[in-house]
Amino acid sequence: MIRASFCGLCDDCQLGNPAFLETVVRLQKYLFQFRANWWLHCFPVEEGFSFAELSKALEWFRNHSECPGCKNGKGHEDCPIRRCALERGLDQCHQCPDLAPCQKFDFLLSEFPDLKARLYRRQLKDRAREFHRLLEAKKMKA
Ligand code: SF4
Ligand code: SF4
Repeated sequence: MIRASFCGLCDDCQLGNPAFLETVVRLQKYLFQFRANWWLHCFPVEEGFSFAELSKALEWFRNHSECPGCKNGKGHEDCPIRRCALERGLDQCHQCPDLAPCQKFDFLLSEFPDLKARLYRRQLKDRAREFHRLLEAKKMKA
């Protein structure tokens, strides 16, 4: 399933990625096979974790592989990027002329430092495509 987002974040989402799901299932099998909950008492308390929560998380990944993505109803209502792109009627932020100076990405960049750079590359590609299209049109006319 292709998930679309205004900022490009959903492009990298691993929910539903067959390799990811396969890994989750394999990990569940290993944990069951090795009866991991029996060995938890061997971990020092401060480094320990809840096996129940881990199992719950793995099960959650298996059962939530169909997220439709930001543009199809899963985006945060208050997200400034989402709100701004919607107001401007843009499909994605790479179409925005104000992408370079835009500061609405600041809250994402510490975790996803290349997010804006990727949109910028996409923007440059679009411009190059448009340039070639115009060249072709000019050639046809000549
Ligand atoms: S809600 Fe905002 S941060 Fe989340 S995917 Fe959509 S545009 Fe990006
Ligand atoms: S100003 Fe442009 S790049 Fe920034 S959030 Fe709004 S639409 Fe996206």
